[in-house]
Amino acid sequence: MKDTANPDASSVQGQDRPGPHVLIVGGGASGVLAAAHILRGDPAVRVTLVEPRERIGLGLAYSTPDRNHLLNVRAANMSAFPDDPNHFLSWLAAQGLPSLPDRFVSRSVYGRYLADLLSIWASARPARFRRAHGICTELGEGPQGIVAQFDDGTVQLADYAILATGHSLPVPPSDSAVLPAWDPIPDLAPDASVLILGTGLTMVDQVLTLLDAGFDGPITAISRRGLLPRAHRPSVPLKIGPQDIPFAAPVSTLCGWLRALARKAEQQGGTWRDAMDAVRPYVRRIWRSLPPVERARFLRHGQRWWDIHRHRMPPESEARILAAMADGHLTLMKGEVREVVATSGRITARYRPFRDSIEVVLKATLAIDARGLRGRPTDSPLLARLLDKGIARMDPLCIGLDIAQDGSVIRADGTPSSRLSAIGPVSRAAFWEITAVPDIREQAASLAERIVMGRMA
Ligand SMILES: Cc1cc2nc3c(=O)[nH]c(=O)nc-3n(C[C@H](O)[C@H](O)[C@H](O)COP(=O)(O)OP(=O)(O)OC[C@H]3O[C@@H](n4cnc5c(N)ncnc54)[C@H](O)[C@@H]3O)c2cc1C
Repeated sequence: MKDTANPDASSVQGQDRPGPHVLIVGGGASGVLAAAHILRGDPAVRVTLVEPRERIGLGLAYSTPDRNHLLNVRAANMSAFPDDPNHFLSWLAAQGLPSLPDRFVSRSVYGRYLADLLSIWASARPARFRRAHGICTELGEGPQGIVAQFDDGTVQLADYAILATGHSLPVPPSDSAVLPAWDPIPDLAPDASVLILGTGLTMVDQVLTLLDAGFDGPITAISRRGLLPRAHRPSVPLKIGPQDIPFAAPVSTLCGWLRALARKAEQQGGTWRDAMDAVRPYVRRIWRSLPPVERARFLRHGQRWWDIHRHRMPPESEARILAAMADGHLTLMKGEVREVVATSGRITARYRPFRDSIEVVLKATLAIDARGLRGRPTDSPLLARLLDKGIARMDPLCIGLDIAQDGSVIRADGTPSSRLSAIGPVSRAAFWEITAVPDIREQAASLAERIVMGRMA
């Protein structure tokens, strides 16, 4: 693990220094938010942030260089700090960029903002903050604290560790005919055609990139239901409180309740968005109130509908997508793709149209996988190791690690760790809505508070 603040550090670091030492594994949005909240909360805590990418703060979501890949949350709601809601807007103004609360800013700009959050500690107080390049391969927990191992053989000791490893991405087979959405799109000939698997926000990104590159061949996007994310519009959330919410009710009851709330919003002259946005602060609590069987029911029947209403696209992205559909450039199809093969530079996909039993063949020049984040926790070698050693356990639905309400990782024997916590999408099985910054920053704030108050040990 290369120590950028202290290149001469020995291979066993972190001993004989005052103040608790927190190791954060993963320097994407979650890791940076956790570090910023901890550093700002307590002048004695020391933080080491380990990340293999060159730049911190980017992770998966904010490493896109495409300026038309926009945030799907308004600038006003993207501050790193819930108690300083104008922090991001002020940063934009300080950079000489338009600082408009309702604007949907480029994700690449947001990545710069996240990286900047830690610059004050990186430059002025290196004794408190170290950024290290590397991959954490193993974490152990003993009476003395956390022992972490890295891909270069070094070892690091810490009092606490926070898993901020994000979205586990499955490694595509080397002979795959489908380009992962996170890879750059190759140059395409004028007579080329593109098949995109998925019709969600990742598909929107891919289509915008193709349009910006001047591609004007046919684009076909296909998913089981062919559902396109809805777009943002001004929203005034309905006023609801915990007493209005049927916590722990069956998913069918919850869906009926939400539909009734949307109708109420429409009757009052608003839109369904006012109902969705009213429920949003309670989603984690609702999810935690559901037994595994109801959570599984939601994943089977409700998730796709939830996602397209909850994770909305900016109106400017919608306008370009609808225009591409209207002029026949982009076609959305409903169906299940069974197989994609590449032969002699051409893609052949077999798919079964929705509610049809006869398979159809589609031909294209390029196929892109935009089916979103479909990795399993065990796709991360570190998480797989933690599960193997019983330091963590899988949640009953196998969608993530089992995490306690306060973010502590739960061991195989059912006891919560006092030293190892998780933040962001890696804790999604426990909270469901924990992928967007407005949710992660709250988790970062409470995690920092626990460390600062010394309540973790
Ligand atoms: C395409 C996309 C667009 C999004 N747009 C928005 C948006 O507009 N607004 C919003 O609020 N939210 C958005 N989100 C959601 C949210 O902001 C992301 O989910 C967020 O980036 C999660 O950050 P993360 O750090 O947990 O995960 P990641 O971004 O996946 O980062 C995890 C980091 O951990 C590192 N890592 C992993 N394993 C190890 C290891 N063993 N050792 C060291 N490092 C390791 C990885 O290299 C990576 O950099 C978007 C998400 C995606 C995927």
